[in-house]
Amino acid sequence: MGLIIYLDGKFVPEEEAKVSVFDHGYLYGDGVFEGIRAYHGRVFKLKEHIDRLYESAKTIMLDIPLSKEEMTEVVVETCRRNNIRDGYIRLVVSRGKGDLGLDPRKCPRPTVMCIAATITLYPQEFYEKGLEVKTVPTPRNLSEACNPRVKSLNYLNNIYAKIEANLAGVLEALMLNAQGYVCEATGDNVFIVKDGELITPPIYLGILKGITRDVVMQLARQRGITVKEEVFTRHDVFNADEVFLTGTAAELIPVIKVDGRVIGDGKPGPMFQQLLQDFRALTEVDGPEIFVPATEKVG
Ligand code: PMP
Repeated sequence: MGLIIYLDGKFVPEEEAKVSVFDHGYLYGDGVFEGIRAYHGRVFKLKEHIDRLYESAKTIMLDIPLSKEEMTEVVVETCRRNNIRDGYIRLVVSRGKGDLGLDPRKCPRPTVMCIAATITLYPQEFYEKGLEVKTVPTPRNLSEACNPRVKSLNYLNNIYAKIEANLAGVLEALMLNAQGYVCEATGDNVFIVKDGELITPPIYLGILKGITRDVVMQLARQRGITVKEEVFTRHDVFNADEVFLTGTAAELIPVIKVDGRVIGDGKPGPMFQQLLQDFRALTEVDGPEIFVPATEKVG
């Protein structure tokens, strides 16, 4: 592939982008990350992603050795160096190299890494026809234990769910909490539409505060749609008029079957189509530009 990777203050060829086997990101999943997208030469919602990265880091008491401004420049410059105008960016900050024990105090310097590449989460046909999902036995992480709001490198909870979905013959899982309330998919937030209203689970239930989720709620409100952050169960999902998922990598994807129950008329619904159109219009214009040489921006 021959990518240029940002690693600890340097841009290096992919083959040279190496991290220690003693890095606690590798040994313990101790770190935080962001998945970001670039559209038409702009990094979409970059400020929101950078803010969330620093919030995740603060909660796990990880001091990122770059300012937010520097981190913003790292992301944009990684896109530039790889000629990525439309693509997917992965920004990772791990606890860094330590010893074999888990004590983070043994890790003097966090590892900072940025990749700008491309991603395809689901095959194109599912965006057109809709996706089938199934609820899975593994509940979403308990907020009090491993808060899903922290976008940490510890994704085992979601990977369990993905394995369970795969075993059940579908591409995506719908994760519930221990009480049976619907939380989110393995890498996406979930929305249902009922009687013209848009409903998504509240953050306090124990979900990631998705940036695409926020954007979609805002777009819906601009259309005059009533948006509710409310708990709901599988029953509400089965009987919804529409269901769809949102995430940076997945964007907006319709769901047409849940646990064997056909949703609505089994086709991507009108509110979904409208919000997707509004989302596409927004990605044209939002975010810092990639192909502005850094020197020209000053003054
Ligand atoms: N939930 C989980 C568990 C995720 O990993 C993601 C992807 N980052 C999302 C939701 C969607 O968040 P965003 O829209 O910020 O990408």
